Amino acid sequence: MTWSQWLISPFITSVFFVLGVITLYWVTFNWLATWIRSRHLKIDEDLVRNCYGVIYMLIFVFGIQYSVVGQSNAWEFMNFQLIAIIFCAYFLNIHIPYYFFFPIILVYMVFDQSIGYWQSWGHAITLITFFWVMNIVRVKFRNRKYSLTSYLLVGIPFGGMLWIWMKWKFAFPWSTFAEEWIYLVIFEILLYAYITMLSHDSALRLRLANLASHDTLTKTENFTAYTNEIKYLFEQYSEDSEPLSMMMFDIDHFKRVNDTYGHLAGDAVLQHVSMVVQTVIDENDQNVKFYRTGGEEFNIIFPNYKIKETETIIYQIFEAINHLSVKTGGQEIKISVSVGVSEAIEDDKSPIDFYNRVDQNLYHSKRNGRMQITVA
Ligand code: GH3
Ligand code: MG
Ligand code: MG
Repeated sequence: MTWSQWLISPFITSVFFVLGVITLYWVTFNWLATWIRSRHLKIDEDLVRNCYGVIYMLIFVFGIQYSVVGQSNAWEFMNFQLIAIIFCAYFLNIHIPYYFFFPIILVYMVFDQSIGYWQSWGHAITLITFFWVMNIVRVKFRNRKYSLTSYLLVGIPFGGMLWIWMKWKFAFPWSTFAEEWIYLVIFEILLYAYITMLSHDSALRLRLANLASHDTLTKTENFTAYTNEIKYLFEQYSEDSEPLSMMMFDIDHFKRVNDTYGHLAGDAVLQHVSMVVQTVIDENDQNVKFYRTGGEEFNIIFPNYKIKETETIIYQIFEAINHLSVKTGGQEIKISVSVGVSEAIEDDKSPIDFYNRVDQNLYHSKRNGRMQITVA
């Protein structure tokens, strides 16, 4: 089959073109987000998504208009542009303040040589209102039963109004107007279905990733997550000499808790301890990371902390757990923990050397009567 024998209708080609543009955005944004996460860059993902979305769609809108500027068929790509706008307004739910919107529209009208036409002004005002209403509808009806209905109730009439302005400007026949409007409605429905499928897939992958890195009982991050994080932080320590400290604790005589109160009560204790520790961490510093690394063993990593600087938080955690009484099944269970603390040092050749020293300190606490902290 040669190029000239492609006899697919322009409409079908357009559908795949639109979906392709969206897919390319989706793939490149996900790549960007993964890259940012892998570098541990502290950039707000929503901000990146919004900025990237606006830039991507602006290049797309200006890019396709470039070939038809000033011509009698300058309206031909409008449906593509409307889809790009709906994507930003509804699906990315980007809120563009009016003082940004007007300059963008003005630049577009100058570029499109349409600034002298009253119909284009009507079109521009309708477009801004459309964007704004789409923003509101998305927020109000998100995850509700009527989200598709509300989306179409806005998308269809606004699409018609936007095409009316173009009909007045370019004086094409009503049949063309109807055809373009119907195409737009079909595009809108396809866009909705496609994004819903993509989002579903992303949400599933997110849940699976979450499952792989979190402990199901306590909801804290697990040993795999700990291994990844300590590897990354140890590299930072080795390369940039950024300090790194770690605390490890183990619940004392936990086997007795299980034997006396039952395994379910033991589970409740583990959940309660995790919750309390996470609360203390959140109140102090959200950069401190908490992991369940074993059955009743937990590790806490302090990035950029010298050993002395961990003292306050570690003492708060130690006190909080040792004063804890977990009420479960009409019983009150009191527990204590033994703690080991250390800091990465030059002799550590790997994160395992570092871990082993913290572990040794923990066992020193155990051997010396438990319910104590060993720092070395
Ligand atoms: P030590 O003070 O020396 O740490 O004594 P211990 O009894 O806490 O230590 P040991 O290692 O002998 O026992 C740990 C117990 O933790 C054994 C195991 O059944 C229990 N355990 C591990 N994971 C879970 C869990 O998810 N739920 C419950 N309920 N128990 C668990
Ligand atoms: Mg124990
Ligand atoms: Mg243990």
